[in-house]
Amino acid sequence: MEKKNIDWANLGFGYVQTDKRFVANYKNGAWDEGGLTTDATVTITECAGVLQYAQTCFEGMKAYTTEDGHIVTFRPDLNAERMENSCKRLEMPVYPQDKFVEAVVQTVAANEAYVPPYGSGATLYVRPYMFGSDAVIGVKPSSEYQFRVFTTPVGPYFKGGVKPLTIRVCDYDRAAPHGTGHIKAGLNYAMSLYAIMDAHRQGFDENMYLDAATRTKVEETGGANFLFVTKDNKVVTPKSNSILPSITRRSLLVVAKEYLGLEVEEREVFFDEVKNFAECGLCGTAAVISPVGKIVDHGKEICFPSGMSEMGPTTKKLYDTLTGIQMGRLEAPKGWIKVIK
Ligand SMILES: *Cc1c(COP(=O)(O)O)cnc(C)c1O
Repeated sequence: MEKKNIDWANLGFGYVQTDKRFVANYKNGAWDEGGLTTDATVTITECAGVLQYAQTCFEGMKAYTTEDGHIVTFRPDLNAERMENSCKRLEMPVYPQDKFVEAVVQTVAANEAYVPPYGSGATLYVRPYMFGSDAVIGVKPSSEYQFRVFTTPVGPYFKGGVKPLTIRVCDYDRAAPHGTGHIKAGLNYAMSLYAIMDAHRQGFDENMYLDAATRTKVEETGGANFLFVTKDNKVVTPKSNSILPSITRRSLLVVAKEYLGLEVEEREVFFDEVKNFAECGLCGTAAVISPVGKIVDHGKEICFPSGMSEMGPTTKKLYDTLTGIQMGRLEAPKGWIKVIK
């Protein structure tokens, strides 16, 4: 397979159209068999449920080339399961989990020429999503839906080296206590745009959201879960019903316990404790872990001992071990790596 002529190392995180995408349609209570198409556009009625009432959810994952030359994805079964939960909460029909994984495999295989080579740091980002596609004007669920998967090559996350982030405690809330914070719905992102642009305007990289009910507990950022390391080297991550269950974070907890022999705690984390932690990172598919160097709470700074120039030592070990597993340099727990080719 001849690869596309792309400068992998200098790719950013943006949309690059690839050759094929998967489309399946839901109508009269059933999914059609679906298949690949070269048509990168979507044509729907002006009154579609997604356009009027934001009935849509998505997933995000990566395909990449391992050290021994296989094209793989990481734990796609968990993306399938999470999308099922998102669909149920939004009154959307579930796309069966095994067919979800099969659609991801087909789409990546059809765009093999866009899967970056091993060692480039770049990956093929995979975006499964679903939306209500028929006309609804009264507020109710759509009766027709489209499930799609497209891919786009993205560059190395830490281009030009790791730069710890400066984040602020945000005065806006991300998710209500019994709302939709735990599902991957577009609506959670639409309403976070003002807060993130405001953070950028004030010179911060990200927002730390606190729990909406008491504003005393750490939730997450707009698109990544927190992971902290205590001074005695325990890994701590917030537990809450209103954060998105990150697959990266869940995997890192297994890595911490099983590979690094560290103690792990998933529990409520009060903002008051944050100043006592030794390291802080943000976990998600895009970066695996981005280190946080500084948190600013209305002018009061918390500076982590790991500083503003590198990852903390335990964060680095977690990062190296998980990326080692993903890239095939370390043995993966059973079922974590889905080989596509
Ligand atoms: C997608 C997402 C994450 C990260 O999840 P991964 O499965 O690790 O990519 C974290 N928080 C939010 C709000 C998200 O949407």
